Parts: sequence; C-alpha cells; structure tokens
Amino acid sequence: MTDSFNRTIDYVRIAVTDRCNLRCFYCMPATGIPYEPQAHLLSYEEITRLLNVLGGIGFRKVRFTGGEPFLRKDFMHLLENVAEIDAFKSIHITSNGTLLQKHIGRLKALGITKINLSIDSLDKKRFHEITRRDDFDKVMQSFHLLLDHGFQIKLNAVIMNGMNTQDIIPLAALAEHHAVDVRFIEEMPFNGGYKENSALYTARDILRNLEAEYPNLERLNSKHGDTATLYKIPDYHGNIGIIPAFSRTFCNTCNRLRISAKGEIKSCLYDDGVFNIRDFMRTGVTDTELADKFREIIRQKPKDGFEAEKLRKAPKAKLQSMSSIGG
Ligand code: SAM
Ligand code: SF4
Repeated sequence: MTDSFNRTIDYVRIAVTDRCNLRCFYCMPATGIPYEPQAHLLSYEEITRLLNVLGGIGFRKVRFTGGEPFLRKDFMHLLENVAEIDAFKSIHITSNGTLLQKHIGRLKALGITKINLSIDSLDKKRFHEITRRDDFDKVMQSFHLLLDHGFQIKLNAVIMNGMNTQDIIPLAALAEHHAVDVRFIEEMPFNGGYKENSALYTARDILRNLEAEYPNLERLNSKHGDTATLYKIPDYHGNIGIIPAFSRTFCNTCNRLRISAKGEIKSCLYDDGVFNIRDFMRTGVTDTELADKFREIIRQKPKDGFEAEKLRKAPKAKLQSMSSIGG
C-alpha cells in the first residue's frame, strides 16, 4: 500500500529482542540498557500473526533484527514459521555475527540467504574498543562461513570520527575479492542517552575518504527503497554503499515500517513510536482490525525523518538505544 506521499510501503523491520551480547558504544552504554521483561516482548505467535496481516496488505519483505536476534531463544523456530508465509518471499536478518555459525545449515535450508553483518573494524583491538567485547574472531568466522555457503552478505560499519575512520579503506577492500556489499553508516543519536554524537563523520566525509583512495569510484543507480547510495570500484566483486542515516537524504523513497521488540510501531526511525500494536492485539482485535490499523498508520507516515523528529513527544532521540529500536 502507498502512504500519503505516494511511497509504496512494503518492508517491515522487526526487532525480536532488545537484548544484546555486545555493547557497541554508539548503541548503548557499557552497563547496557534496562531490558524489557520477556512477557512484554511480542511472542513468536504474535509476530507471525502480524506478518500474515502485513502480507495481506502488500508487505513483501521482512527483516529480523534486535538487539541480537540470534540471542532470543528458538529464533530459528520463528524463522521456520515465517518461511511458510507466501507473501514474504524475502526474509532478511541483521546480526552481529557472534552467535549464528551453528544455524547456517538451517538458514540455508529455509531459503534465508540475505544477511547483514555488522562489523565496524577489521582491527581486533579497535573492534574490542567499539563493541566492548572480544568477539572479533567469531564475527570473522561467521563472515567466511556465510560466504562459503553462498549467502548474500552486506557488511554494515558505523563510521565515527576519532574511532574507526582508518577502517574505511580496509573494509572497502573486502569487496575486492568477495561478492559482498560494504556499507558505511553515519552515526545516529540512538545510544541509550549516555553520550552526544557531537563530531559526526558525515556521508560526505566517508565519500571523500573513499574517493581519495579510489579515484575511479563510480556511482550506481540505487535500488528502490535502498537507504544506501551505491558505488562501484572497477573490478571489485562487491559494491560500496554509504548510508546517510543522520543526514536523512533518502526519505523520499522510504518503503518501511519498524516494529520494536515490545510491539511499538515506528513509522519513521526518528519518531518515538506511534502506536503499540502488541497492546492492541492483546485486546482481542480481529485481523481485519489489525490491517485497518496498519493502513491508518501508513497513511500518517511523516514526510521525512526531520518532520518525524519534530513530532516526537520525548524530545531526546538519544535516550533510546538502537538495540531496542532495531536499527
Ligand atoms: N545486533 C545486530 C547488529 O548489530 O547487527 C542487529 C541490531 S543493530 C541495532 C542494527 C544495526 O544498527 C547495526 O548495523 C548497527 O551497527 C546499527 N546501529 C546501532 N546503533 C547505531 C547508531 N547509533 N547509529 C548508526 N547505526 C547504528
Ligand atoms: Fe548489540 Fe547490534 Fe547494538 Fe552492537 S549494534 S550493541 S551488536 S544491538
């Protein structure tokens, strides 16, 4: 279905948990965030029901994220149920890559081959500084296992001034021999409220950095709904993407809704939650009522992230952690 700006909204991102085994400093404080009790999370049955309803109103793509999705018990069981929903031909997962190795066979058997892995540095020490955990080897092992098994991988790296700008070129170089898209993301202010992201390293800065190393960088046409501006380096197997997540220059082609682990719908990443679909569902509403509610929310989707931010009831976006929003 389309929103009031004639954008087709057919992609839903669902955070299956707000818990995480890493502590990426741009996402949450070292002490973590207060987690929701299990009973507050959407159950797998509720998520499956919501996806059936969303499939009925034209949604075709789902991404499971978190927190760390593979941390939630029986996550594979949810994937098995969702793989049976005809509407969702395309099931995607965003993961930190620390826990997924043992699931690779089942993922493949379910036809789930599109995985975004987050890795902000190829330097083990810096990886530890950023994530506050010593899991670099596990993540790299997952990366290579996924590649060997033919998964379509996108690597996500948040680039921060004074932290990992020196990782841009080594990360981009992964696309030389591997068919992976390496995407560089501007830091957003969703870190659980403990820090300012004052010295933003912008999408322009990232591009300048890449152009200095790769003067032949070629701009590609973006795919519909893609938040990344895509580039090709001649002879590289994979592409390079830059995601202006803070500058928000991609809102005019936005195609997505987000649902947090506790059922809060975000029609834009920068709003502070427009409706709790879990509570609504738990009042005993029918599927038709759920579908109508989604239609209403989509019709009211704000024009862009700046408008959504203005409409926030809680003024400080940074008080939220990306771990509870889902990225
Ligand atoms: N734990 C999984 C992971 O790290 O891939 C999934 C959830 S994580 C919140 C989803 C994505 O959001 C990751 O690629 C992460 O780097 C990104 N992210 C988290 N906090 C961010 C922030 N403050 N600014 C920009 N991206 C952020
Ligand atoms: Fe965990 Fe992902 Fe947040 Fe890092 S970015 S703390 S891996 S949810």
